[in-house]
Amino acid sequence: MDAERTLILLKPDAVGEKFCGKVITRFENAGFKIVACKMMMLSPEILKEHYAHVADKPFYPEIESFMRQTPVLGMVIEGPNVVNVIRETLGATDSKKAAPGTIRAELGKDVMINVAHASDSAETAVKEIERFFRPEELFIY
Ligand code: ADP
Repeated sequence: MDAERTLILLKPDAVGEKFCGKVITRFENAGFKIVACKMMMLSPEILKEHYAHVADKPFYPEIESFMRQTPVLGMVIEGPNVVNVIRETLGATDSKKAAPGTIRAELGKDVMINVAHASDSAETAVKEIERFFRPEELFIY
């Protein structure tokens, strides 16, 4: 079986306020390795696809404009149980409700400005990685 992978998007708050490094350090300290990494300015089209589950919500236009404030830093990270461990490390969607010690509790602002996206299941991760990365952009080492 292939090693488990997850898609991370470091959002414009992390990029603009310059705390990507802190977040990446948390992932590396948890024992995970980076197998792909690039900056991307996300189009409205790819955002609508990625956020299809909230695209009909009244707050969706705000998400689109937030996610296009700066490029995002997209990464694929790999390791045992990476999807669940990273979701736990990241904390609840609403930064104000995220458990103490989580990345969102430490660095997030609110329910929208919340540092990073991380895939919510191994199956979703496969689709999300394909959405943002070409196969040759992933490294096996
Ligand atoms: P998560 O990113 O934790 O998986 P969701 O998939 O529920 O959370 O939501 C996707 C993204 O949409 C969130 O990370 C956040 O940026 C934004 N979002 C979710 N709920 C709200 C809300 N009530 N108001 C504004 N933005 C929201």
